[in-house]
Amino acid sequence: MAMAKSETAGALNKPTPGLGGKHGLYSTNGVHELLECPVCTSLMYPPIHQCPNGHTLCSDCKVRVQNCCPTCRYELGNIRCLALEKVAESLELPCIYQSLGCHDIFPYYSKLKHEQHCRFRLYNCPYAGSECSVTGDIPTLVNHLKDDHKVDMHDGCTFNHRYVKSNPHEVENATWMLTVFNCFGRQFCLHFEAFQMGMAPVYMAFLRFMGDDTEAKKFSYSLEVGGNGRKLIWQGIPRSIRDSHRKVRDSQDGLIIQRNMALYFSGGDRQELKLRITGRIWKEE
Ligand SMILES: [Zn+2]
Ligand SMILES: [Zn+2]
Ligand SMILES: [Zn+2]
Ligand SMILES: [Zn+2]
Repeated sequence: MAMAKSETAGALNKPTPGLGGKHGLYSTNGVHELLECPVCTSLMYPPIHQCPNGHTLCSDCKVRVQNCCPTCRYELGNIRCLALEKVAESLELPCIYQSLGCHDIFPYYSKLKHEQHCRFRLYNCPYAGSECSVTGDIPTLVNHLKDDHKVDMHDGCTFNHRYVKSNPHEVENATWMLTVFNCFGRQFCLHFEAFQMGMAPVYMAFLRFMGDDTEAKKFSYSLEVGGNGRKLIWQGIPRSIRDSHRKVRDSQDGLIIQRNMALYFSGGDRQELKLRITGRIWKEE
């Protein structure tokens, strides 16, 4: 948080080529600081409050300080700082992800909304959905998957993967695996897992693209699994890792194999799961 803040301030001090048309931007630095809540240091949005001595405070902090101004200890009351709210309305500020490549500037009150959807915002770690809280850009996350989650990395746009499990009748602890493929200079996550779909135990394999949705749509992939002369084929479009692992799974956007079928494909006495999944990723022209 502190780092992002100082980057924004730095960007305001230093005129960047390409933003030359917006002269107002560089003279508003002082106002920008006034809009920082002195207690929590985040930017304030209406209603902005002030004490009778003029110390300002954001609405979140106002609830927390129990009617006592954190700056002068005076009784806070219920005074709104309309002037500052109006000044904020006239401001235009760069996106907080400017250093990551977003060069747009926004009216103060729509900046926050943009930043929640900015395509330059950081990605969540694609491993195990919400269990890992690491965020970063794609190269950072690729290294994180390799170093911290010990994920298998493969080069190439075709793959041939074996999943073996000795106790396939225990689906309760959704076992799942992740493999990352490097192809077309981009990275794709192949997920494989067991879960309970309604009453039916199933296995599911699907691909996620490490990048934005608009780019994910430029690719297609196919998955094949079979045995004993039968085969299931899935063709799809990888989903962006902006969509959580769970969201993709619950939308059933992937190759779904009923456990009975999976055990039949595995051959033998149905006591062990032995699936060979082959796949291919290609670019749609
Ligand atoms: Zn605050
Ligand atoms: Zn005060
Ligand atoms: Zn942005
Ligand atoms: Zn992680």
